[in-house]
Amino acid sequence: MHNDYASPVNTPFSWWEKCFWDKVDVAVAGAGITGLQVADAIKRRNPDWRVIVLDRDPLALGASSRNAGFACFGSLTEFLEDIDRGGEAAALELAEKRYRGLQRLREKMGDQAIGFQRSGSLEVFITREREAQAIDRLETVNRLFEGITGESETLRPEPTQGLNMQVTALGIRNTHEGVVESDLLLKSLRQRALEAGVELYGGMEIARVEAATDGMEIQAGRHAIRARQIVWCTNAWAGKFLPFDSHAPARGQVLVTRPVEGLKLNGAYFFNAGYTYFRTLKGNRLLLGGFRDVDPEGEHNFSPETGGAVWEALTTFLNAVILPGMSAEIDMAWGGTMSMGVHRAPRVERIDANQVICAGMSGMGVALAAQVAEDAAQIVCEDR
Ligand SMILES: Cc1cc2nc3c(=O)[nH]c(=O)nc-3n(C[C@H](O)[C@H](O)[C@H](O)COP(=O)(O)OP(=O)(O)OC[C@H]3O[C@@H](n4cnc5c(N)ncnc54)[C@H](O)[C@@H]3O)c2cc1C
Repeated sequence: MHNDYASPVNTPFSWWEKCFWDKVDVAVAGAGITGLQVADAIKRRNPDWRVIVLDRDPLALGASSRNAGFACFGSLTEFLEDIDRGGEAAALELAEKRYRGLQRLREKMGDQAIGFQRSGSLEVFITREREAQAIDRLETVNRLFEGITGESETLRPEPTQGLNMQVTALGIRNTHEGVVESDLLLKSLRQRALEAGVELYGGMEIARVEAATDGMEIQAGRHAIRARQIVWCTNAWAGKFLPFDSHAPARGQVLVTRPVEGLKLNGAYFFNAGYTYFRTLKGNRLLLGGFRDVDPEGEHNFSPETGGAVWEALTTFLNAVILPGMSAEIDMAWGGTMSMGVHRAPRVERIDANQVICAGMSGMGVALAAQVAEDAAQIVCEDR
């Protein structure tokens, strides 16, 4: 309590609090699926290092707890769009990183722990023209994907009859993809990191960082933390402390229906280069998200809510295309924030002697983060 006799040497924290935060080897900023895997990978390489994760939220508050849970490496038209944007080699490299990331994630966590189901995914079309254009390039893409999956027909045309959707006769199935339960993914990644000896701290918003003797001083909450290195896994918020012009924040909007009687769908579905995605959830519910392409500029925001032209597009698509004549009721809706790169590749690099960035998962972190986290851990641990 403040009074007129307050000592002039008052400090905001006690001796013990100062000692507690004094000797950290690596502080990871952000407890999303990237930060957790980066911290875990560093600690497992160096068990005697003190590795902490700081997040402003007790759980995480960005994309990891608000996503759609697709564990995928590329629908046909999404991959074709990546080729158009950045060329075949870059598109293939990204698809391979996602494929390997997904394998790595499943290997280290086990399918049950993360709720992974290899349901496959089905890309659907609403015009015959788009369907035909995609099928025209199927063989070429299958030849490229063979180098990744080892299979000559990773993508196959499949009739959509019986799904009760207002789509064309053929969709394209990718049998290697599936879905995770994002709550289980976060829970099990937190558990794994704790088991390795990583310390997780929520409610720690980083407000300031500055160079200090042999490392960085991090102001988080009311605490001042001394760390030899900091790894920025703050994704869409990475630009707050570092130059991060290569990526922009992008809202993703999602809705979940109430249980739908007579639902014929099962697993994961894509539409329009992966911009729109829907999947089934337990209890005959449907999750639908996307349509960011309807208003790309307007969606460069951090809003945790839904709205605008994108919301209109989502609800129209739900009623007219996915569940025509079924009058589905919407139970929940939210927004989450992604970090989108022009060529959709993440940034994983050392910034200076004390700082590394591992951010910009561009809407693909579920599959991508496991592999990218290993790359970041390698950088952090090199020459140290
Ligand atoms: C609606 C939506 C749907 C998606 N669907 C899919 C999908 O189906 N499949 C897929 O692969 N990907 C999907 N994604 C993308 C995926 O969720 C992300 O790529 C992934 O979660 C990124 O994880 P991250 O840990 O890098 O970032 P985030 O999960 O965003 O974590 C960053 C963390 O940094 C913390 N933070 C920020 N600033 C500070 C600060 N100053 N101090 C302390 N902490 C801070 C935040 O609280 C947050 O927890 C989707 C994203 C959204 C939004």
